[in-house]
Amino acid sequence: MLDMSVPAVAKLRRLLDSLPREALPDILTSIIRTSNKEKLQILDAVSLEDRFKATIPLLVRQIEGLKLLQKTRKHKQDDEKRVIAIRPMRRVTHVPGALEEEEEEEEDSDDVVLLERKVRTSSMPEPARRVCLKEVKRLKKMPQSMPEYALTRNYLELMVELPWNKSTTDRLDIRAARVLLDNDHYAMEKLKKRVLEYLAVRQLKNNLKGPILCFVGPPGVGKTSVGRSVAKTLGREFHRIALGGVCDQSDIRGHRRTYVGSMPGRIINGLKTVGVNNPVFLLDEVDKLGKSLQGDPAAALLEVLDPEQNHNFTDHYLNVAFDLSQVLFIATANTTATIPAALLDRMEVIQVPGYTQEEKIEIAHRHLIPKQLDQHGLTPQQLQIPPATTLGIITRYTREAGVRSLDRKLGAICRAVAVKVAEGQHRGAKLERTDALEAEGGRERSEDVEPQPIGDSGAAGLALPPEMPILIDLHALKDILGPPMYEMEVSERLSQPGVAIGLAWTPLGGELMFVEASRMDGEGQLTLTGQLGDVMKESAHLAISWLRSNAKKYHLTNASGSFDLLDNTDIHLHFPAGAVTKDGPSAGVTIVTCLASLFSGRLVRSDVAMTGEITLRGLVLPVGGIKDKVLAAHRAGLKRVILPQRNEKDLEEIPGNVRRDLSFVTASCLDEVLNAAFDGGFSVKARPGLLNSKL
Ligand code: ADP
Repeated sequence: MLDMSVPAVAKLRRLLDSLPREALPDILTSIIRTSNKEKLQILDAVSLEDRFKATIPLLVRQIEGLKLLQKTRKHKQDDEKRVIAIRPMRRVTHVPGALEEEEEEEEDSDDVVLLERKVRTSSMPEPARRVCLKEVKRLKKMPQSMPEYALTRNYLELMVELPWNKSTTDRLDIRAARVLLDNDHYAMEKLKKRVLEYLAVRQLKNNLKGPILCFVGPPGVGKTSVGRSVAKTLGREFHRIALGGVCDQSDIRGHRRTYVGSMPGRIINGLKTVGVNNPVFLLDEVDKLGKSLQGDPAAALLEVLDPEQNHNFTDHYLNVAFDLSQVLFIATANTTATIPAALLDRMEVIQVPGYTQEEKIEIAHRHLIPKQLDQHGLTPQQLQIPPATTLGIITRYTREAGVRSLDRKLGAICRAVAVKVAEGQHRGAKLERTDALEAEGGRERSEDVEPQPIGDSGAAGLALPPEMPILIDLHALKDILGPPMYEMEVSERLSQPGVAIGLAWTPLGGELMFVEASRMDGEGQLTLTGQLGDVMKESAHLAISWLRSNAKKYHLTNASGSFDLLDNTDIHLHFPAGAVTKDGPSAGVTIVTCLASLFSGRLVRSDVAMTGEITLRGLVLPVGGIKDKVLAAHRAGLKRVILPQRNEKDLEEIPGNVRRDLSFVTASCLDEVLNAAFDGGFSVKARPGLLNSKL
């Protein structure tokens, strides 16, 4: 009755055979299932005959039990076989009964044999092959109905499929790479230059264990798209791994195979998808990695990115090392602030700032519009968007550093036109107008005109021949996109004292930040609203302290004419867009200007924006993100930007046309800031009237 296929049992059997007969009752009693009382009875029986007599019934009982067990097992197996036999209906009709069962089993074992052959011929390294062969062996013994059977098979199939040794050959020609990058992307010179350097070093030194490139910039500035171009220039496969919101390290490193539904991590999955071991992997949004109880994905990424470790990266699912050293990793992020420090340390950050309006227009006409036309099955002969319209979209319908919304709006225009073209109709009146910015004249006409069927040229002469392109002017824009979403409102908001415009840097690009102040009777309290961080709150306190200590110098007084600005006065400072958290020291100069305006009753110039950190002594310290901030001021149509003196060097990065449109005032102390922010200057000397009357 014993299962002889189990080696331990076979050994036991041999042992039993070699025993002296008189020892059998004692040994058997210790092996079979008996109660303690029964065991005691056997020990009690001293004569050999008694002991045999007492043991035999116990043995018989055990055998009966085993027989029953075997019977039920056999029934179960028969049932299962029948179920499997029924599944392939076609074959049941052809080959009934046992024959068909055999065939089924044979096919399975064929599959396993095939898998085994694949494992043997695959190019996987020896340790991996050993693990696989062991699994194949297990698979052969396993009944198919076991859930583990499918798991093991999936595992083996993945192992065989992985590109252990398969790679594409790099074709790198720096000159061609430069042309390709230039063709695919307008502007972004700094980024393209750095990418070319990186590629050039790769060309000279074959296996580069350099830093990982990390493109940091607002959304829609072409980070992903440059990554794709890098893959194209190298002739490598490209795969994007979105890391936004990933908070489980198993997402990177896979689940252990003991879990139900376990699977490999995104890295291994990506390799399986691209089918080669040297693709370009774009790790998108590394700044949005989460952290949770399921472990820290950033730590797992570290292992992936570290050239010292990644030649034997072990995914939990594979459980054998995979060499990632040939993979070219590029990361993208919106800000470096939230990238875990250890990860940031391994990457070389390249800032990708937002675009100016002129750059956006060029990008739209060189890249976005042709792409959208193509996607919508249109040709330039059917739809034309003049630059003035593009500018209209940029200023009135989007407010962004990149070009993603712009792209979407252009898509919306193409869709609207596609309907017209598909209907075979043109909006007659609009076609006649070539100057998109012309005054209202054509408006009623364009709206009154019913679409005309092609060829119906008789209809009031408005239907044009089909080969005429549809031209989108600002009115057509309004019809398609609705009323403008953003109108300039800057000057309106600065019509009272106690308002100033600052420049803020956000992960989405630069932005204008208004600061509002008001005063009321009170006990000298300062109220701050607008979700400010600690640093910003401190800036506000600094600003007030500096103004209080300099009140006499600038002749600033509270409502009752006292130089003690907080005497019987409360101040409220508010930073609108209250739902957005703001922090950082760079609002210092703006708060000072805003309060100086409040206490002097003078208006801040409505065309000036500023940025800079302040000290208690009234010095202006440099801040970051100058290019993005200046571009935001330019987008908003401002004319003057006040910057810290030590940021002067950053102005070099700003495109020439923006520099021409704006005037820059660099300040090293608050005195200079105030003089530049108010018409006619702010210092007492600049206000002769005051000098004469009061001092
Ligand atoms: P990101 O990854 O920075 O969020 P994407 O790479 O997805 O942005 O870019 C969004 C779109 O804008 C893409 O279609 C891309 O081709 C286009 N684009 C962005 N910058 C440029 C540029 N300088 N030249 C051409 N196209 C650009």
